[in-house]
Amino acid sequence: VSPEEEHAPARILDGRGLALDMFAATAREVDALRAERGRAVGVAVVKVGDDAASGVYARRILKTAARVGADGRVIELASTTTRIELAQVLRRLSRDADTSGVILQLPLPTGLDVRHVIEDLDPLKDLDGIHPFNAGLVSRGEIGFAPSCAEAALVILRHFGIALAGRPAVVVGRSNVVGRPVQQLLLRESATVTVCHRQTRDLAAELARAEVVIVAAGSPGLVDGSILRPGSVVVDCGINVLADGTIVGDVDVPSALSVVDALTPVPGGVGPVTNAVLMDHLVRAVRAQAEGGFPDAQPMESRA
Ligand code: ADP
Repeated sequence: VSPEEEHAPARILDGRGLALDMFAATAREVDALRAERGRAVGVAVVKVGDDAASGVYARRILKTAARVGADGRVIELASTTTRIELAQVLRRLSRDADTSGVILQLPLPTGLDVRHVIEDLDPLKDLDGIHPFNAGLVSRGEIGFAPSCAEAALVILRHFGIALAGRPAVVVGRSNVVGRPVQQLLLRESATVTVCHRQTRDLAAELARAEVVIVAAGSPGLVDGSILRPGSVVVDCGINVLADGTIVGDVDVPSALSVVDALTPVPGGVGPVTNAVLMDHLVRAVRAQAEGGFPDAQPMESRA
């Protein structure tokens, strides 16, 4: 028998089912918060310019909000919006008692720089963790809003019982949205983390040691079965639209399946859990605003 025939079928880590469970839990919390506060829980998506993908994403968040019983609205601003105007919108939402969470869609149109307006967004309403205050908390292993996609990768690993402490983990990609925060979240779970990026000399050599792999490079087929370690667990954060409209991740699934122990599919893996994380953040945002801050958390490595 060849090793391939001996290999048990890889587990497909289903994000859709997990997301449904998370939505149900969040819906109960939203109900309770509404009753407690006597006012709805609201989320605002700020969309600048008319990028089609960003429109799809905004509508998806609205659907997700409706699912958990939250009020959702999209604030559409022209691509000619100035830095001052965008800052005013963010300040107004930050003060608005009916808005508990704000998602500013990135990237902004050319000419607008998120760094010039981000201080006008209340970090306690920053559901997708784009504010440097949240990035700082996450990098220190403390409680704050991590970017939703990065957190979704960790939520999946935890839900499916994948141990992290002490294990070699490799992150492919170092974007602020996924790779960089994933690295910090893995470290908080005491994994031994390596981050690969465009200048990594030998991706295959790094992956050969990886028991847990998180891929977020935006490059279809970048990681395939030939370079994955047998028995590894792979979380694919990639979302690539091929010329024929098919959506695929960064991992070549057919070749990976005969090598890995478990793999998240695209679509149906990290994507739905990302939306569920945003709604979980909305509930946590309501609480953090009521308390005037995030709950304290000891960094994991200093715990017993
Ligand atoms: P995402 O939003 O999915 O994180 P970005 O385009 O912002 O995607 O970032 C892509 C990341 O993937 C970058 O950090 C880049 O260095 C990394 N990357 C791209 N191609 C490769 C490659 N061939 N090998 C390793 N890392 C890569």
